Amino acid sequence: MNPFECEFESDALAAALQSRFPERVDADLRAHVAGCAICSDVVAIAGAVDDAREELRERAVVPDSGRVWWLAQVRARREAAEAAGRPITAAQIIAFACAVGVLGACFGATSTRFQSALGWIASSVAAIDAKAVLVSAMGMLVQHGALFLAMAVVFFLVSTAVYLAVGRD
Ligand SMILES: [Zn+2]
Repeated sequence: MNPFECEFESDALAAALQSRFPERVDADLRAHVAGCAICSDVVAIAGAVDDAREELRERAVVPDSGRVWWLAQVRARREAAEAAGRPITAAQIIAFACAVGVLGACFGATSTRFQSALGWIASSVAAIDAKAVLVSAMGMLVQHGALFLAMAVVFFLVSTAVYLAVGRD
């Protein structure tokens, strides 16, 4: 008989690998393993291997499927947004340029009309009384009106720029 083989070796190995040894094996096998050098070695080694495998399984961090799916969704959405963001950015720049042009035209038209209206009031009032005082007062009003319009334009441009910058996300 080969001293490196035993007829119960496979039984002992199976019991050890299935974590049935020594509690859930029959008494004959348990008694044999206790008296057989080969089978006790097999059980000891298989038990050690099984313990190491359990330890590895516990240490392995496997993300759950829901999280993997969620991360894939987030990534796909971000890539789609980046792809869609390029033409949107170009369209926003064009829209911004158009807004600036329209605003400039409006400001020019409004300030001219505003100044002519004020000039008409100034001249009609000045025809009645105290021409010099009223003209200087109207001049101040025109200047302040232009300043107010300029501030409104700047405010609108800044808020539009902020809106475009925030809207890009
Ligand atoms: Zn044996």
